[in-house]
Amino acid sequence: MDIWEHIGGEYEEVVFCHDAPSGLRAIIAIHSTALGPALGGTRFYPYANGDDALIDVLRLAKGMTYKSALAGLDLGGGKAVIIGDPATAKTEALLRAYARFVDSLGGRYLTAEDVGTTQADMDLIARETRCVTGTSPLLGGSGDPSEATARGVFAAMRATAAHLERTAGPESGSLAGVHVVVSGVGKVGSSLVRLLRADGARVTVADVNPAALDRLADGGVELADHNGVHARPCDIFAPCALGAVLNSASIPELRCRAVVGAANNQLETDADGERLAERGILYVPDFVVNAGGVINIADELLGYHRERALDSVRRIGTTTTEILRAAAAGATTTVHAAMALAEARIASVSATRRISSFPPPGRHSG
Ligand code: NAD
Repeated sequence: MDIWEHIGGEYEEVVFCHDAPSGLRAIIAIHSTALGPALGGTRFYPYANGDDALIDVLRLAKGMTYKSALAGLDLGGGKAVIIGDPATAKTEALLRAYARFVDSLGGRYLTAEDVGTTQADMDLIARETRCVTGTSPLLGGSGDPSEATARGVFAAMRATAAHLERTAGPESGSLAGVHVVVSGVGKVGSSLVRLLRADGARVTVADVNPAALDRLADGGVELADHNGVHARPCDIFAPCALGAVLNSASIPELRCRAVVGAANNQLETDADGERLAERGILYVPDFVVNAGGVINIADELLGYHRERALDSVRRIGTTTTEILRAAAAGATTTVHAAMALAEARIASVSATRRISSFPPPGRHSG
């Protein structure tokens, strides 16, 4: 593989980390620090080879740039991968070695939990570096982000419902009587269902795990088989389980007016955004909808304050409205509209960096 072909022109920095005694092999990718330090989780995964790991970390880091920019955060985009099976390769020494590499970047990259890493891992990493978020509340962290993520999805749904009904704005949108099908009722999906019920929505749920459904059995929800649940007639389909659920096979079968869900990477390919638009189905991009988690951990950098964090999460509703309107006005897809909005914010905020003083703004001592 020609590494420069992948990195060239786009990524600020890619760091390959190796520690022989602990067996650490990791890659940290910083896509952009135009808006601030690059924040993104550490994925611990048994990649088949280094090329796969590099391609994944580059893709994920770039996604974080857009997610944080649209969430209104003063953060850039980055991500890290540790190569190996977390069940067997994860040791205290390996995580501490990794943390020391994170620390060596001097705050340009801030890490967090992701697939294969846990809050306990972040607590361990915090013993070697301050450049970590998502630690436990006892260490000043924000704890489980799922509730914040669910509230962000809920805000995006209200804004979408308001847009569909052409009402004034997201604050006026209520989901009373709106039929939402939630596929996957784990940590985020189950919190979302509670919010939807409290708002008067009609809710249908599906999950491969019967225990997850049992937990919601008394909540006035309808149960559906997870096979083919995407084809249930409804107003809003909410994928809250796996990625790539929106593809050339599933999109023609959708019977919803909009897709608004928490799952990461819902579109299997870029063309699926166009397919949804052609069918007249509103798709709110996942990186807009599920930003509640990153907004929540980002608040730790100010000294975590739950109400302030949840207040910021509600802005996802306003952003959703802006994207849906921009897509309609520009006759473009919501994904393109969202990316354009993110790029415009990055460009305009970056341009203010030409105004200088001493000490540089934002770096106050004491
Ligand atoms: P989770 O593991 O707690 O829940 C996922 C649920 O989906 C489980 O109950 C699982 O049984 C179910 N599921 C798996 N395959 C399914 C299928 N084919 N059909 C229906 N259900 C299925 O995960 P979570 O933390 O709730 O996250 C859900 C999604 O949201 C993931 O894609 C995650 O990456 C994304 N996300 C989560 C957060 C967060 O704060 N937890 C933040 C951003 C994005």
